[in-house]
Amino acid sequence: MIKIGCHLSSSKGFLHMGKEAAAIGANTFQFFTRNPRGSRAKAIDPEDVRAYLAFAGEHGIGQIVAHAPYTLNPCSAREETREFALETMRDDLERLEYLPGNYYNFHPGSHVGQGIEAGIAQIAGTLNEILVPGQRTVVLLETMAGKGSEVGSRFEELERILEQVMHPELMGVCLDTCHVYDAGYDITEDLEGVLDSFDRIIGLEKLKAVHVNDTKNPMGSHKDRHEKIGEGFLGLEALRRVVHHPKLSGLPFCLETPNELPGYEAEIRLLRQKS
Ligand code: FE
Ligand code: FE
Ligand code: ZN
Repeated sequence: MIKIGCHLSSSKGFLHMGKEAAAIGANTFQFFTRNPRGSRAKAIDPEDVRAYLAFAGEHGIGQIVAHAPYTLNPCSAREETREFALETMRDDLERLEYLPGNYYNFHPGSHVGQGIEAGIAQIAGTLNEILVPGQRTVVLLETMAGKGSEVGSRFEELERILEQVMHPELMGVCLDTCHVYDAGYDITEDLEGVLDSFDRIIGLEKLKAVHVNDTKNPMGSHKDRHEKIGEGFLGLEALRRVVHHPKLSGLPFCLETPNELPGYEAEIRLLRQKS
């Protein structure tokens, strides 16, 4: 069974997210570890986690994706900002040990004029300080749209980060359909070619999760504006081919489209159908 779900609000805890997911036909989901401003995270409630794990087991909810606040920038030109990203991510990873076996996805960051090489080195440096051998969360670099000075819009850039990380076994990649298309990868006309180049440059075994979004902008626009499934430049059929691709089978697919729960429920149903 395809593992598909959507982004959910974490404000009411894990059991609540699990129940929401089950209610809309999802068997995975994504959540922010804290609000986007990256402020203090609510303390983990072990009772909530225990109840969630039991519920998830009964309802076939598989691996889930924690998303770091998207305002963090591990390759900022300001040391203070880099330090804040590092401490926030380290704290998130400690808390995620309560939910072993899941993923922690983050945006590699924007080099803000320092240059791509400097950015890549700072991102890898951050990871080398926070990854702990034996940790039970795999950290994912998200493929980016290439807005401004974002690092990670080319597969080669992600590969160079992975190459500089001391514990590559704790790392993976999350492919965002809106972002890669915005970055210039033609997943509508040449999904096979894009997956082949991902495989050649990074290795498909590193691909651990997929964000399924349509996009408001044409290929290569570097804008990062998500659209509802079927209402953007990618379209339903192209996104169905992603979700049903044999090389991606078993991965968690998470929708991050502009929707409330009923909209997500409808999109999950549409994407589960092959045609
Ligand atoms: Fe993201
Ligand atoms: Fe995304
Ligand atoms: Zn995005």
